[in-house]
Amino acid sequence: MPRKLNRILVVDGSEVARTIIVRILSEEMPDTEIVTSATVKEACAWLENSHFDLVTTSLMLPDRDGLELSRYVRASRHHHYTPTIVVSGDADSRLLREGFAAGVTDYFDKSLGYRAFVEFIKDFMQRKFGLVGRILYVEDSRLTAALITKLMEKHGLQVTHTTHAEQALELLRDSPSGPLAPEQFDIVITDFYLEGRLTGGDLLHAIRAKFHYSQQEMPVLVLTSSKDEEKQVELFHAGANDFVFKPVVEEVLMARIRSLLLIKQQFAALKRQTDSMHRLAITDSLTRVYNRRYLLDHGEQFLARRDNHPVAAVLLDIDHFKKINDNLGHITGDRVLEALGEMLRSRIPDNGMVVRFGGEEFALLIPRCSINQAQQCAEGLRREIEALNPADVAITVSIGLATNQQNPGLTLTQLINHADKALYAAKAQGRNQVCA
Ligand code: GH3
Ligand code: MG
Ligand code: MG
Ligand code: MG
Repeated sequence: MPRKLNRILVVDGSEVARTIIVRILSEEMPDTEIVTSATVKEACAWLENSHFDLVTTSLMLPDRDGLELSRYVRASRHHHYTPTIVVSGDADSRLLREGFAAGVTDYFDKSLGYRAFVEFIKDFMQRKFGLVGRILYVEDSRLTAALITKLMEKHGLQVTHTTHAEQALELLRDSPSGPLAPEQFDIVITDFYLEGRLTGGDLLHAIRAKFHYSQQEMPVLVLTSSKDEEKQVELFHAGANDFVFKPVVEEVLMARIRSLLLIKQQFAALKRQTDSMHRLAITDSLTRVYNRRYLLDHGEQFLARRDNHPVAAVLLDIDHFKKINDNLGHITGDRVLEALGEMLRSRIPDNGMVVRFGGEEFALLIPRCSINQAQQCAEGLRREIEALNPADVAITVSIGLATNQQNPGLTLTQLINHADKALYAAKAQGRNQVCA
């Protein structure tokens, strides 16, 4: 659960500005207590005596300036980590030059107006307290690990800590995989120097080269005490997304983690979108079974799989369907197709394939199916459909089937052609029957 923000200190020399900011902030963030002050001196007195989760200040104040307040916040014991936002004119050059050194967390361009300012604060607080993610953290120093784990957990992150790269690899290996499996971890954070045979660099290499995780799929942040720039370049070459110096500064670590989690979330969203587009592209929207294109793209491969053999192809066509449309309307016709699609999906095992082959014609590929089994299966389906009454309409089907049992070298087209001939025979012999 993201923590609720408790208190904000708003420092602004203008009484009008303070009044407006307090009014909008209280409307937008009713759970937040807002304290205002007009001068740096007054603000420091507040900070001395009570706790704030965020400080916002204008750059120009009646007594001193906002950067001095920011320096004061950074130097104080209780507010060392409290974010400080400076409100100023459009990218004030002094702010750009000195702001970072003064410990300013972010700045806001006041020409955007009060509403935008309050939105910015809201957003900022959500980003600050809304850290959601699962971290695999590798650190051999138990003391450092305890401190940093606590720090990350304080920000709402779920942390799994291991002391050795070997253990981390085990955990990554045991993660469920596959296109739809959610990974167990969002990002990996590793110390560079580790006890044991493998270093953080080796772990990084394994993640990229062995597990084939891209930098978007599994961002890796390396903690290092080396200021050696060549080493840093090496880390990037090895596939690190970023690094942080030890001893770790909380704000810096959290900012890096936040940006890596964002990368991971964007990647996951893109993947979900791609997966659902792919499903749409291979599914018939009315009957929810595979479309003809899927059969043409994947049918041959399905036949080629040794453990599928022999394969039965079954073509199933509704008898006199045109009459149903003519007598009951096209919409009822659609409902019939929909219900038949659902029934077929539920009857054919998951390793089989149900396809809408044409308007009111379905094709089934059934793996490991002899001609006798196929005949039994088709006859079972025919009878069940006769009793089904989809959308309250009595229907029958004619079924043609063929298998590649005698001739494993048949192509998909040849196999389907055989089944189609059998279907034609079933129609010619009076419909509502199975022909092989
Ligand atoms: P037969 O027993 O010889 O198969 O007769 P039939 O009337 O089923 O065959 P025919 O091929 O003459 O007609 C198929 C009909 O299926 C014609 C077409 O309007 C209808 N149809 C095709 N696709 C759809 C669809 O998506 N929805 C509806 N409601 N009807 C469809
Ligand atoms: Mg170490
Ligand atoms: Mg028909
Ligand atoms: Mg037809």
